[in-house]
Amino acid sequence: MALEELYREVILDHYRNPRHKGRLPGAHFHAEGQNPSCGDEFSLDLAVEDGVIVQVATQGQGCSISQASGSMMADIIKGKTVDQVEEITTKFKLMMDIEEGENPVDPARPGAVLGDLEALQGVRKFPVRIKCADLPWATLADALEEAKAAQ
Ligand code: ZN
Repeated sequence: MALEELYREVILDHYRNPRHKGRLPGAHFHAEGQNPSCGDEFSLDLAVEDGVIVQVATQGQGCSISQASGSMMADIIKGKTVDQVEEITTKFKLMMDIEEGENPVDPARPGAVLGDLEALQGVRKFPVRIKCADLPWATLADALEEAKAAQ
């Protein structure tokens, strides 16, 4: 099994240089998640204005897969609407679920590209690590529920 595929360069880059690290000052929605099977932790602050995620801040510790997934997630959701973010979440889950070799991204659909997140496809070969990649997304879902309830 090629470990280098799991720890592709882009994953290591996000792990070493996490995007949008920190806490948000002022009003925001907050959620925390844990993946006990690996010891990963992730927390998320979202500032939402008129249905748009205008600010993102994350904190976490754990393996490179969980933290890189969180960094990539923070990158891709900032500036998007809540609806767009839910669509991205669906695509990400689809990508992690499908059989190897299938293309989860329909190029005909606008905004279908998952960008750096596609590097996490290699994690599918390590089922126990899928929970690591999913952790930030489960945390995001909690924060979005809070944001939608407040509207
Ligand atoms: Zn992990």
